[in-house]
Amino acid sequence: MSQDKKGLAWIIPIGNELLIGRIVDTNSAWLARRLTFLGYKVIRIVKVPDDLDEIVEEVRRGLSRAEVILTTGGLGPTYDDKTLEAVAKALERKLVLNEEALKMVESFYKKKNLPMTKERIKMAMLPEGSKPIPNEVGAAPGALIEVEGSILASLPGVPAEMKTMFEKHLQPLLEERAPPRKLWECSIQIKGVPESSLAPFLEEMARKYPKSYIKSHPKGHEIKEPILDVRILSASESLDEAKKLSEKIMNSIEAEAKRLGGEIVSKSCKAPD
Ligand code: ATP
Repeated sequence: MSQDKKGLAWIIPIGNELLIGRIVDTNSAWLARRLTFLGYKVIRIVKVPDDLDEIVEEVRRGLSRAEVILTTGGLGPTYDDKTLEAVAKALERKLVLNEEALKMVESFYKKKNLPMTKERIKMAMLPEGSKPIPNEVGAAPGALIEVEGSILASLPGVPAEMKTMFEKHLQPLLEERAPPRKLWECSIQIKGVPESSLAPFLEEMARKYPKSYIKSHPKGHEIKEPILDVRILSASESLDEAKKLSEKIMNSIEAEAKRLGGEIVSKSCKAPD
């Protein structure tokens, strides 16, 4: 695997419903947070429709840029569930009946006294060389493929299925490979300074400390009653260094806010949750 992919993650939520705005993509937010706390850097979340070529294109882009590529959705039995067909095409592999996956699907329907049908068998068709990921909540197994040092995993769209699958079967694997990266977040609430007045200083801090992500969140009214929540998230190989960095930046912001006539409402630091 090329070194520039190391530690990078790419999330591809799939489904027309996401693009017409009928479903809010909560899966990606949940996955992005998990990956971030595991030490990965999520560089893209790209929603794609249930269109074979669109999925193929995005999977290929993910594989060329990231170490971990996760798709969610489109594993089900219906004609528009095309994720695994697209993954196979992106990898130039065949979509084949996976015996282990077939057993998983069969056992799911057997418990419900339902026969196997063409649509149910479809859920056991995986790209050649993939490992099925058990679905403890629903019917369709996920698929895990290692290609050129990258991990590509296709997870279901139903949030409860996706979360269980990730926590039980993917997280342990990702934890093992995760780059050593510790996070520490400080937050400072400032009253009486418009966001635009503090902006040049925050920009200067962001340039000076590239390992930290500094972001101001305006809460009140820019002029009438400015209240700012400034978050400083630092990442480092050592927790101690991440702590020192975030706290140092927070203290500099405090000094600047006071210089601008602001009042500090509160300050706190912790590992992000
Ligand atoms: P299954 O394998 O369980 O049949 P699937 O993988 O085929 O599911 P979809 O058919 O794409 O998943 O989605 C099923 C449902 O899951 C959607 O109707 C929606 O309610 C929810 N869902 C799908 N994608 C997302 C997402 N990105 N964020 C939140 N909810 C989602």
